[in-house]
Amino acid sequence: MYKRDYYEVLGVSPNATEEEIKRAYRKLALKYHPDRNPGNKEAEERFKEAAEAYEVLRDPEKREIYDRYGHEGLEGRGFTGFSGFEDIFSSFGDIFEEFFGFSTGRRRRAPRPVQGKSLRYDLELSLEEAYHGKEEEIVFTRLTLCHTCEGSGLEPGTQPEVCPSCQGRGQIIRSQGFFQISTTCPTCRGEGQVIPNPCRDCRGQGKVHTERRITVKIPAGVDTGSQLRLRGEGEPGEFGGPPGDLFVVIHVKEHEFFGREGDDLICQLPISFVQAALGDVITVPGLDDEEVEIEIPPGTQPEQILRIPGKGMPRLNGRGRGDLFVKIQVKIPEKLSERQRELLEAFASTEGVKINPGRKKSKSFWKKLRH
Ligand SMILES: [Zn+2]
Ligand SMILES: [Zn+2]
Repeated sequence: MYKRDYYEVLGVSPNATEEEIKRAYRKLALKYHPDRNPGNKEAEERFKEAAEAYEVLRDPEKREIYDRYGHEGLEGRGFTGFSGFEDIFSSFGDIFEEFFGFSTGRRRRAPRPVQGKSLRYDLELSLEEAYHGKEEEIVFTRLTLCHTCEGSGLEPGTQPEVCPSCQGRGQIIRSQGFFQISTTCPTCRGEGQVIPNPCRDCRGQGKVHTERRITVKIPAGVDTGSQLRLRGEGEPGEFGGPPGDLFVVIHVKEHEFFGREGDDLICQLPISFVQAALGDVITVPGLDDEEVEIEIPPGTQPEQILRIPGKGMPRLNGRGRGDLFVKIQVKIPEKLSERQRELLEAFASTEGVKINPGRKKSKSFWKKLRH
């Protein structure tokens, strides 16, 4: 389905401040609210669209993802728009409270299910581990439902009581001039009931921190920034909502010899000037203990890059492997034996080059350069 740009939906520029975004959304929300446009499908769609855009752009983290990767980026990271119309109304209620300090009067009788928080785990791997893939046991702490009270927050055997401040309505109503203003009850935070005897294990929170150990299967070919999503391994949901997810974020350490660019590997290979001139076949250890054969053609130049197809990283979720790029470094001998010198001088003579053996330093050469 085609989705309009969120900035376009709200009619603001991509550099809009939070305040401008809020103002733009407020205007649209009031204009298209279903109560003002009964039976108008188009208004309903506009209303939903604006609410979704605002939901993303008000949140700096989501906004950044959207700015960089667009709609697909948000979906790829598990952020979606609104799941249903119920959300819109409650969102509108919140907005109304936020803007005007009172609610529309639509009190949430039963709290909506809320998905639990998603968690992030950063995992560092060597390049070899990224190459082979591996199973890794990870340990992290997360909130889980308290076993003692099964998440209710009540000391076993006790019952919640009707909130004394709002008599269970979840809202308190005050009169101000002509208006009756209804706000969320601060004592029970809108739930209508309070816990007189909180569970001792979780202090009435219904959740406790526990350690979780799971084995994660890391596919071959992951790179820094790859994310593995483990559904349901985040924190528990509220009011019957599903648990959040765990995102394992991969960081691949630098390797001593191999650099990486996407699925390709890059390495430097020092060879002698004789190997460069005559050509040679060299084997170097690869990442999987197999030897990689590198054919150096005669006349190879310094800094020349040789491509060895199919000897790079395995492609993630795909077939085959990237390539290996070998950058040639030509080593010039720093010391020569008498015999080597003779041979090189003989070689020089075949090229018709007159070599002034560097034993005596010629000063005039530098003088000539300077003037
Ligand atoms: Zn408890
Ligand atoms: Zn209350």
